This record gives sequence, C-alpha cells and structure tokens, in this order.
Amino acid sequence: MSAQQPRACVFLDRDDTLIPNTTLPPPADPHPAWKPGDLSDPDRVEVLPGALEACRLMREQGFALVVVSNQGCVARGSATIADVEAVNARVGELFVDNEGSPLIDAFYYCPYHPNGNVPEYTREHELRKPQPGMILRAKDDLRLDLSRSWLIGDMPRDCESGVNAGLSPDRCLLIGERGEFPDALAAARHISKHAD
Ligand SMILES: [Mg+2]
Repeated sequence: MSAQQPRACVFLDRDDTLIPNTTLPPPADPHPAWKPGDLSDPDRVEVLPGALEACRLMREQGFALVVVSNQGCVARGSATIADVEAVNARVGELFVDNEGSPLIDAFYYCPYHPNGNVPEYTREHELRKPQPGMILRAKDDLRLDLSRSWLIGDMPRDCESGVNAGLSPDRCLLIGERGEFPDALAAARHISKHAD
C-alpha cells in the first residue's frame, strides 16, 4: 500500500473500553460535581484486561488507532482540559507495542455537555457522541479511509457516532454488558478476521 493512500482506522472509545472508569471508586477529595465516569487523575489510569493486546493486534493488522472520548466532566467542572489531557497522556504511555512505541495515533475528546456548570463548555456540540464530529475531524487530520474503518465502544452512542460518521453499522462493535463482544480483545479478533 502506498504511503499516500488513506489509512484504515479503528476508532476506540476510552472509558470502559480501554481503561476502567465507571467502576472506579470516588477520588479521595471529589469535586462537588463529580460523578462516576469522571476521571481526572492520571495516577488512577489502569488498563482493562485484553485492551492492550487488542491494540497490539489491530496495529499488527495495519490499522491506525484513534481514541474518541466524551469528557463531559470538563463541562461539569469536575475535571479540567489539562486533567483530561494528562489522563490521555497516561493512556498513551501505557498502550505501547513490544518495543515501547506508542500504539495510539491520536486522542480526540469532547469537553462539552448540555447540562454543565462551566458556561464555556455547557452546550450541545458536534464533537459530542453520538454526533460524528470527532471521527470526521480525525478523518481529515490523519487522512483516514472510513470505508475500511471500524469502531469499538461500550455504549450505544459510541456505535451511533460511527454510523453517523458513515461507518458501516457492521463495523461499529459494541462491547461489554450491552454488547455482542465481551471486551476489546474479542472485538479486535473479530476485526482481524473480517478486515479487508
Ligand atoms: Mg465508554
């Protein structure tokens, strides 16, 4: 494949897809607006079982890997942009190949939420899943071929954002309790079997 050709990508939700989140206990000194799912401390980042192996497998298949994550905690005020970026940086450190090179090509997040406390971020936004803004932005930034791309997430809105971006519904894989696949690794194995 020519380097000029757009790359196929696997878009990855972050929280409860790559790293545990809603099952984390509250932080020691929670912000008044904290709620389960808000993660502001990079020291609390752990890798979900199978998630690292999943990313390594998909990278071996030649996919770009892009994280797309709603972070309404910024709009609620329980985390800052800097906190979200510090957590993403930690995820980037943990998800590496056997040589220690980063597996995640880029992180996109949406700090907006319609029911927030921070006026700057309190509104609906095209980046916020289930809207497709983060995927479309990544497509342009990284020259991605959406017709050969996939998505893995643990919430229906993750998959909806993929479909809204033009991905085939068959390529938007729901994992966890609500999904067809138990975890990211099972989804990655499905992708490796069906990739074109
Ligand atoms: Mg999630």
